Amino acid sequence: MSTCHGFGAHEAHAHLTPMHFERRALRADDVAIDIAYCGVCHSDAHQVDNDWNNTVFPCVPGHEIVGHVTATGSDVTRFKVGDRVAVGCLVDSCRHCAPCEAGEEQHCVEGPTPTYNGRDRITGEITYGGYSQHIVVRESFVLRMPAALDARLAAPLLCAGITVWMPMSKSGVGPGSKVAIVGLGGLGHLAVKLAAALGAEVTVITSSPGKVDDARTLGANHVLLSNDSKAMLAAANAFDFILDTIPMRHNVNPYLMLLARNGKLVVVGAIDLLEPVHGALLMRNNRSLAGSLIGGIEATQELLDFCAERNVLPDCEMIDIREIDTAFERMRANDVKYRFVIDMASLKGVSVD
Ligand code: NAP
Ligand code: ZN
Repeated sequence: MSTCHGFGAHEAHAHLTPMHFERRALRADDVAIDIAYCGVCHSDAHQVDNDWNNTVFPCVPGHEIVGHVTATGSDVTRFKVGDRVAVGCLVDSCRHCAPCEAGEEQHCVEGPTPTYNGRDRITGEITYGGYSQHIVVRESFVLRMPAALDARLAAPLLCAGITVWMPMSKSGVGPGSKVAIVGLGGLGHLAVKLAAALGAEVTVITSSPGKVDDARTLGANHVLLSNDSKAMLAAANAFDFILDTIPMRHNVNPYLMLLARNGKLVVVGAIDLLEPVHGALLMRNNRSLAGSLIGGIEATQELLDFCAERNVLPDCEMIDIREIDTAFERMRANDVKYRFVIDMASLKGVSVD
């Protein structure tokens, strides 16, 4: 066991405060990682707020982790001390069910082990995330950080990036595809960059008039304001693929009607009830409504390699760990451009009361 310094919440909606907790001792197939940067995902706020009624407190969030290897277990073959590595939303799974064998560990039949707010499969200990000094992860869940990728900015690829990459690559988004991204936040802005890099024609659908110029700078060819009913009507039947990143309950019907024949709308944002869906809107044009959950380890590596090769990186606002409460407040108030990343070196000067 080793004592780890981090920031966590002790109850729902509480401020995040400095704390100590124990990390497990290194097992034979484990890698120990010093954390350099950790992205701040909207899911971290949902989890701290206990929005999904499953949070175990204290909760140390963070599943967009970039760092370097400090120790390896005796069976580890793919990593050595000093390697730059990354960890996303998952740190383990059963590794033998059909989804695990297909590289979709996020759909592990026994339930994957999330990076935080999960339970270690062997000891049953609660898992704690990346708002902390270091982490111990089974080798097969550790990602290689390509040398060409800027470590300061890469962290959001580990959750936001893979969550939008997965449904786009599965749906064959590429040259000739007409894609719309609903919600220009952490997930949405990476979806715009990735869809553009894949060669698609990209439209951003935003509720924020102030983001129109940003959307174009990020790579969108067109921008629609979701409350401009005339423009929305004019875009009916226009898109092959729509990615909906809105982080709460909402009405998907205005977006469904924008799908072309055989088009698909994938919900990744609202882990919540949606407003009732109009059947006729689904039937017309043979439209599909689907969901998608993060992505497997192999696909995440593929994404990191793609981003290194194509120089796709998120727009990050670097913060000190002591600014985490303000970052959460700004995220809840839709004031992020476009992902907060914590520089974990800032933890050094913080003491635990
Ligand atoms: P975020 O940075 O806060 O972005 C969400 C965006 O949605 C906002 O920037 C805003 O864009 C739009 N939005 C916010 N409130 C809205 C409202 N009331 N009505 C309409 N649009 C609104 O959040 P994120 O980190 O991208 O995460 C988005 C959601 O995905 C969260 O709920 C998170 O938990 C979930 N998530 C899911 C997965 C998965 O595996 N499926 C993985 C990671 C995260 P505009 O200003 O452009 O409208
Ligand atoms: Zn996340």
